Amino acid sequence: MTIFKNQLYINGEWRDSSSKKVFDVINPADETVLTHCASAETEDASLALDAAANAAPAWRGKTPRERSEILRKAFELMTARLPEFAKLITLENGKASNDAMGEAVYAAEFFRWFAEEAVRADGILSTAPSSGARILVHHKPAGIAYLITPWNYPAAMGTRKIAPALAAGCTVIVKPATETPLTLLALVALLEEAGVPKGVVNVIPTQHPREVSEVIMNDPRVRVVSFTGSTAVGRNLLKQSANQVLKPAMELGGNAPLIVAHDADIDVAVTGAMLAKMRNLGEACTAANRFYVHESIADVFTEKFTQAMSKLKMGNGLETGVDVGPLVNAATRDKVSHFVNDAVQRGAKVELGGELPTGSGFFYPPTVLSNVPEGAECLSDEIFGPVAVIQTFSDEADVIKRANDTEYGLVAYVFTEDMKRGLQICEQLEFGMVGLNRGLVSDPAAPFGGVKQSGLGREGGHEGLLEFMESQYISTVW
Ligand code: NAD
Repeated sequence: MTIFKNQLYINGEWRDSSSKKVFDVINPADETVLTHCASAETEDASLALDAAANAAPAWRGKTPRERSEILRKAFELMTARLPEFAKLITLENGKASNDAMGEAVYAAEFFRWFAEEAVRADGILSTAPSSGARILVHHKPAGIAYLITPWNYPAAMGTRKIAPALAAGCTVIVKPATETPLTLLALVALLEEAGVPKGVVNVIPTQHPREVSEVIMNDPRVRVVSFTGSTAVGRNLLKQSANQVLKPAMELGGNAPLIVAHDADIDVAVTGAMLAKMRNLGEACTAANRFYVHESIADVFTEKFTQAMSKLKMGNGLETGVDVGPLVNAATRDKVSHFVNDAVQRGAKVELGGELPTGSGFFYPPTVLSNVPEGAECLSDEIFGPVAVIQTFSDEADVIKRANDTEYGLVAYVFTEDMKRGLQICEQLEFGMVGLNRGLVSDPAAPFGGVKQSGLGREGGHEGLLEFMESQYISTVW
């Protein structure tokens, strides 16, 4: 592969770790070692900090148009190499080729969107109501940004942070997930080709995220920490970010409810539910975790949905016709299996799947559970796998209460043919995003993010740019 890299990228140079240590990158489809990747130490984190600090004045000093054109070039380069990126994503993450291609396209779109937003960091000029003084507000790059990305979308979660940070004029240090460092390293090779100067983007995969993050987050030159991952790690990073009072952006876990009202178009609901559940084989923070189907249509919905799930082909994601690849690692697969066993022991009915396959690879089959009783662990925890959990409801107020009964608040889905009532339900849902008659909300042009313990801040849209900027207010008279 032309884009294959497995070293650290610091100050525009590919280099080994200062300790020469490496870690294995595993192919989840067959458990073989794809390659070894350099593992950054705290010394490497210090080098990355110096590089990002030295590159900052020149990058901040470029015009928004100059930064925009580099990002646009990155979009074009990535668009020309989508199949190569998709293959790399499948190799290290496991997801099926279609999903991987979908991710590569989505990831590239962040370069295009933020190339366009780079030139739109607007400001305010107004007159103070009482004093008559002039109020000027403009946006400045926030400073060095530390970006930590997860394994479930190794390309898109990278570009969703890198593109707005660069557009805003920040220099960055990126720590990709240990399971999937290769896609991010390939992305940075592409950014170099697009004209990003040395030191502006630095990438430090590591087996020691806590130690490395401590060095970076305790350095006063860093001003932003932007994290996508689990709520547990996010909470710790929030505590650490208090030391230097960093500007945090936290995209954390979810527990999405999917409500199918009595008047929903059942085919639309099944298509939407398939997308909401099975995109990325359920390894998505946006994955529908709890289905609430009105009791009057529950049987027909469950039958049609189970039929759609049964048509999915499981296998190595690189093979043609495969819809469902392996989960990312053994721990994730075992957790999914545990959720299913727990629900079944409590009385849930297995409509499809539910059996752990034998053989190599971290596979778990598409599974549908109905009659899942309250108290089952899969209702309160993120399943993060291809398991649909169906419950019924009869009363709208009650289902809204049940949907909101979670510490998470990332995304919810509602299916109804009555748009007025649908919008009224959306307003009552305590979630940062709602898909109304749609099973997909992610869009580079829209503000992605959650409330409650699903996080702080928004990525994408115009908001995504401002996460990497600070407003400055100038008071004057003339
Ligand atoms: P994770 O929290 O285990 O890891 C995320 C990243 O944090 C990885 O790069 C990991 O190496 C790093 N990390 C782990 N411990 C760390 C520490 N002590 N200090 C600094 N960094 C550390 O999450 P994951 O398992 O990679 O991803 C799955 C989770 O991410 C799910 O909970 C999912 O909902 C969430 N997620 C959220 C969004 C969103 O936009 N809200 C998007 C994708 C994934």
